Amino acid sequence: MAKINKLLIANRGEIALRIIRSAREMGISTVAVYSEADRNALHVRAADEAVCIGPAASSASYLKGEVIIEEAKKLGVEAIHPGYGFLSENADFARQVTESGLIFVGPSPEAIEVMGSKLAAKAAVSKYDIPLVPGTDKAIEDPAEAKKIAAETGYPILIKASAGGGGKGMRIVQAEEELEEQMQRAVSEAVSAFGDGAVFIEKFITSPRHIEIQVLGDTQGNIVHLFERECSIQRRHQKVIEEAPSYILTPEVRQAMGEAAVGVAKACNYYGAGTVEFIVDDELNFYFLEMNTRLQVEHPVTELITGVDLVKEQLMIAMGNPLSFKQEDLSINGHSLEVRVYAEDPTNNFLPDIGKLQTYQRPQGPGVRVDDGFEQGMDIPIHYDPMIAKLIVHGKDRREAIDRMIRAIEEYRITGIETTLSFCKFVLKHDAFVSGKFNTKFVDQHFKPEYLDEPPSEDVLELAAALAARAWRKKNEMAGGKAPDQATTGRASAWKLRGR
Ligand code: ADP
Ligand code: ADP
Ligand code: MG
Repeated sequence: MAKINKLLIANRGEIALRIIRSAREMGISTVAVYSEADRNALHVRAADEAVCIGPAASSASYLKGEVIIEEAKKLGVEAIHPGYGFLSENADFARQVTESGLIFVGPSPEAIEVMGSKLAAKAAVSKYDIPLVPGTDKAIEDPAEAKKIAAETGYPILIKASAGGGGKGMRIVQAEEELEEQMQRAVSEAVSAFGDGAVFIEKFITSPRHIEIQVLGDTQGNIVHLFERECSIQRRHQKVIEEAPSYILTPEVRQAMGEAAVGVAKACNYYGAGTVEFIVDDELNFYFLEMNTRLQVEHPVTELITGVDLVKEQLMIAMGNPLSFKQEDLSINGHSLEVRVYAEDPTNNFLPDIGKLQTYQRPQGPGVRVDDGFEQGMDIPIHYDPMIAKLIVHGKDRREAIDRMIRAIEEYRITGIETTLSFCKFVLKHDAFVSGKFNTKFVDQHFKPEYLDEPPSEDVLELAAALAARAWRKKNEMAGGKAPDQATTGRASAWKLRGR
């Protein structure tokens, strides 16, 4: 068994901090890497040691695999955790880490490679009786053949880049006359974005839900699943709100999806933490979409309903330990929700809004977890992902989790930049969300920026209340009356200002 005494985290922000915390609880010392823009970042302060790996641009720092491996060796590190994004799904990096005599905290390079190509992934799982979205199982080049397949599949169809990711490289085709042109576009986009022009056809499921299954496997070949995450609230095919468990799954479908996910993992001899994504239609038919071979952004909701620390499990597996639990030891406890807090303006087409966090006060109290990488007074750098925090809650049931999340959002104080918190609150209060009757089109169907007529911030309310109190006093002094207690005036005015 290879003991890890010292771990390098090849990432930044909230996920680097998240990993440092679990490592510390396990007595593992940590090395942070940082770019010049992140010199004062929290992950740098939290780690036992930190090393600068280059200028701000990711391509010159967080994506510099060789530099990171070199530093790891210099500092006597035994293992590298890649987090998510950056080098986490780069099979060459995983291979180089291993070849340098270090442990890569993640699956084998072969598993990353197979699952990194949507077509190779479909081919690998086809032996395992996993339902696939109807369509082609190989790259398609000839438009005449594409038309034939599309006609059999039935329109609308989706043309997808095999190497696609991050919600990019997809084109919907509504009818045959559009097919040839859309196919040409898809190929040229795939070449320029991913350096690989292979595209294939999938039936476009019109009102689908995105439901994924968390899996964990050890190097002895044991694989379990940790139930599902419902990720249907998306913008531009990117997740914004996630929850576990899903409102719509029956125990039977949950079990069938869990077994299918374990089958997908077996198909590539998977070990480590991974996520198998499915698309689910109105009748609860589910189809394999792809597998993400890393820790996922939304992993905390699974941690809160299962009580399993996924990062610790990743590290235990990387050290060669067998899983300490079996499938039947796992169960779902309560309900968890996560909202991604982005530095984006929801009233202005979600444009990134970077700047200084003038006020930054996290919500607290029962069942609230905040995974973030910032503090009051810090600047949000322009170079990276605009996600500033993940706000996660746990409740005894879905109703309590929703109420708790709304309470936590109201408690969160952020000024200096615009965030997506008001948008998240809108979703959580919407009937479609509350009743569970929603799909990946929620935002298109139900959201308009003008629905966010947020009440003025507390600072504005306090100022307005003080002014109102002064005016009241003046008026009463003139009339010979007594000034009221300021707190009462403040509160009454505040409620009035909110129009309630
Ligand atoms: P997930 O599938 O874990 O929910 P997303 O779909 O939101 O992640 O993210 C799309 C891609 O962008 C993923 O490959 C993810 O690893 C990457 N990514 C997301 N957030 C960050 C970040 N803060 N830094 C770097 N890469 C990121
Ligand atoms: P990526 O690699 O970009 O994450 P995915 O295949 O996981 O690509 O798809 C991302 C999202 O696109 C899904 O969550 C879903 O909202 C939508 N999507 C993908 N495939 C289909 C499909 N066949 N029909 C309808 N929507 C789809
Ligand atoms: Mg995906």
